[in-house]
Amino acid sequence: MTELPIVQVTGAAAGTREWPTRDVTDEALADPSWRPLPFVEFALKFHGRCNLACDYCYMYEMADQSWRDKPVAMSREVIDQFALRLGEHLRAHTGETCGASVRMHGGEALLAGADQFAYAARALRAAAPPEATLRLVTTTNGILLDDEELLDTFREHRIGVTVSLDGDQRGQDRHRRYANGRGSHDLVMRGVEALNRPAYRDLLDIVLCAIDLENDPLATYEALVATGAPAVDFLLPLGNWSSFPPGWNGADGGTAYADWLIPIFDHWYGTVPMPAGVRLFENIMALSLGGRSANETVGLTPFQLLVIESDGTIELGDALKSAYEGAPFTGLNVFDNALDDARLLPGVVARQRGVAGLSQTCVDCSIRDICGAGEYSTRYRAGSGFLNPSVYCADLAKLICHIRDRVLTDVGRLKATRATRATGTTAKAG
Ligand code: SF4
Repeated sequence: MTELPIVQVTGAAAGTREWPTRDVTDEALADPSWRPLPFVEFALKFHGRCNLACDYCYMYEMADQSWRDKPVAMSREVIDQFALRLGEHLRAHTGETCGASVRMHGGEALLAGADQFAYAARALRAAAPPEATLRLVTTTNGILLDDEELLDTFREHRIGVTVSLDGDQRGQDRHRRYANGRGSHDLVMRGVEALNRPAYRDLLDIVLCAIDLENDPLATYEALVATGAPAVDFLLPLGNWSSFPPGWNGADGGTAYADWLIPIFDHWYGTVPMPAGVRLFENIMALSLGGRSANETVGLTPFQLLVIESDGTIELGDALKSAYEGAPFTGLNVFDNALDDARLLPGVVARQRGVAGLSQTCVDCSIRDICGAGEYSTRYRAGSGFLNPSVYCADLAKLICHIRDRVLTDVGRLKATRATRATGTTAKAG
């Protein structure tokens, strides 16, 4: 294994000895069965400002306000330097990974313009070793998607598109508004329509919806599916034990978020054929059957993601911005550091340790391998840090048990039917 520098997370985690501390890295290094994993997902803060002013935005409206000190857009110098680091990283870890995914993110990434996307795609593909698969995607609020120059660029450079959409007009316009209060639904629908033209249809990757309990769950689901996306996902709002999610009633034993999601699952699961994948449900189903989750929202999938800010600084994921000021901060940047320099940060190691990175409550939980304590930032509690169950513990438990029991019952039925058929066949043959 390469010798890696130890870099401590600064900010609240260092000042108050909140978990994870340097001890987490020391314990991992003392464990002969553990080795740090390479990074395979990157989010580039391609453009640092937005044309919407959504009131729940983790970037502009939550604890971390560091965007104010960052450049408006990522320069070509930063893109080139990241490309160099990416190529270096992929070459150093040939055999451990077959490639990486780079997401051009914002703010609103599409404000960077078509030329910048084309430039980045060329630079990144040229830097990656020929044997590595490089998946390029962008996340957008959808407002600028009716720009043909952008769509042609995405098609030419094979850049997939993720659209954020909160459902029907009422759901979308509840939060996703312009600074003057005007809703964005109509313009986003125009963009989605453009994406559905035959020439661009393959670009749409997934539609992401931030859950609002005020919205009707089935109407929300139907609106997402109507976009024609091959997959949709429901995101639990960011929140933690020191800053509760909106409408969260876990303190009183409530499960408002599970109660919102379960009718969608039942409807989706009972629809043949399913019109689109639902990532959260599919992850729970895969984990219930002994498989893996495609991301870190459930399960024990290791954290292998870095965020590259518009000034080239390296951070640990946007969701952390909801915990406290400076939570994603690493002290590293692509000019002075290799990407490997982030591998032994306690905040990275803690999320690559599987069960060893969970609180005792979660270690003892019967569904811990499916739940995995939920999304990391939702475990935060000021004073103790991230070694806690998710603030969504009760919701996750209810949702997971519901999905798992339904899937396992069906698998049991299927096996019984097959066994009966096999017995019938043998009897006939006999
Ligand atoms: S259900 Fe709760 S206790 Fe169990 S693993 Fe998830 S967060 Fe932890």
